[in-house]
Order: sequence, then structure tokens, then C-alpha cells
Amino acid sequence: MSAPIAKATTKAQSQTAPASAPASSQTGLSAPPAARAHARDLSFEADLRNGLEGELRTDAFTRGRYATDASIYQIMPKAVAYPKHARDLAAALQIAGQHGVPVVVRGGGTSQNGQPLGRGLILDLSRHFNAITQYDPEARRVTVQPGMVLNTLNDRLRKDGLFFPVEPSTASRCTIGG
Ligand SMILES: Cc1cc2nc3c(=O)[nH]c(=O)nc-3n(C[C@H](O)[C@H](O)[C@H](O)COP(=O)(O)OP(=O)(O)OC[C@H]3O[C@@H](n4cnc5c(N)ncnc54)[C@H](O)[C@@H]3O)c2cc1C
Repeated sequence: MSAPIAKATTKAQSQTAPASAPASSQTGLSAPPAARAHARDLSFEADLRNGLEGELRTDAFTRGRYATDASIYQIMPKAVAYPKHARDLAAALQIAGQHGVPVVVRGGGTSQNGQPLGRGLILDLSRHFNAITQYDPEARRVTVQPGMVLNTLNDRLRKDGLFFPVEPSTASRCTIGG
């Protein structure tokens, strides 16, 4: 996806500056924002791949899917990770910090104002952080992991005549963390 943009830039630069000097220093041109947004950060990706047990996706298709929510906004992330456990979360934050990459946590991605979008690392917790960790129907208390989908929680609570009282129309996809 980035190749045609990069080529177009090179061609434009070669037409406006002598071949002997970097085009940007002669013309003030730099890669257009779209090309910068699609650029890969291979050393960051390698550190994540080595440091995480959960899956890491850096292909354009996945990044494109996570570049949107239910709004009109679009921001291409560098990478999308699906942390498997707390150790993965800690490692992802540490690696991102070392590389100066911002982190955004994401659930169902149903926000309407671009809240779960970002240029850095997206952590999708809906895949592995979706369990009930404590449940006491008598006391009407439940503790869940943040990636649990609202309807999944209410399906379980319904068996005891209980209900978590939030009713967005996105209940089949939105998570408690979101
Ligand atoms: C058609 C439609 C109807 C809607 N109706 C309602 C409604 O009736 N009521 C309502 O309140 N909202 C509604 N919404 C908005 C949206 O569905 C809700 O806000 C929903 O709760 C978002 O959950 P999510 O899991 O999709 O969050 P996401 O969109 O993935 O994330 C939302 C925000 O929470 C953050 N976040 C997500 N997970 C975590 C985490 N584990 N830790 C820290 N931060 C986290 C994200 O970074 C982001 O800032 C609607 C949206 C649509 C498209």
C-alpha cells in the first residue's frame, strides 16, 4: 500500500532537485503524511515480536482495520497486539516506552469520536482479557477483565436474575473496558 506513494514522492523530488543532493534539503519537500503514516518501524516490531507471547500484527490489512472506529476518523497505527496476560501487557508498555511509541488500548472499537485510534501501538484486549474473575450473586458483585463484551456478561448474570445496567445498542460488541 505504501509503495506507490513512496514512488510518487521520489519522482516528484527528482523533478525539482539535482540528483546529487537530497531532494528534501533542496526543495523543503518531505514524505507526505500518508506515506509517513504507513511507514514501518522494524526495530520496534522486532522487539515486540520477541517480547510478547500474544499475537502481533503489523500487516497493512490489520493496521487498516484498526485505523478506524465508528467515527469518520482514520489514523494508521504502527502495530496491533493481542496481549495474552498481564506479563504481555507490562512488556508491551515497556517496549513502547523504550521506543517512544504511544499506546492505545482497544475493546470493540465502537467509539464514535476516534477514541481508540492512534499512530502507535494498539492493544486489543477483547481477545484474551474477557473473563469473569470474581462473582458473588448474593452480594451482587462481579469483577471482570476489561475485554469482556457487555452482552456476554449479561448473558451470565441473567441466569441469576441480574443485569449490568448499561444498555448501549452496541452491547453485542462493546467491552466493559471501553
Ligand atoms: C450505533 C452506536 C450506538 C451507541 N450507543 C451508545 C449508547 O447508547 N450509550 C453509550 O454510552 N455509548 C454508545 N455508543 C458508543 C460506544 O459503543 C460505547 O461507548 C462503548 O462502550 C465503547 O466500547 P468499546 O469496547 O467499543 O470501546 P472502544 O471503542 O474500543 O474504546 C473506547 C475508549 O475506551 C478505551 N479503552 C478500551 N478498552 C480499554 C481498557 N481495557 N483500558 C483502558 N481504556 C480502554 C479506548 O482507548 C477508547 O478511548 C454507541 C456507538 C454506536 C456506534
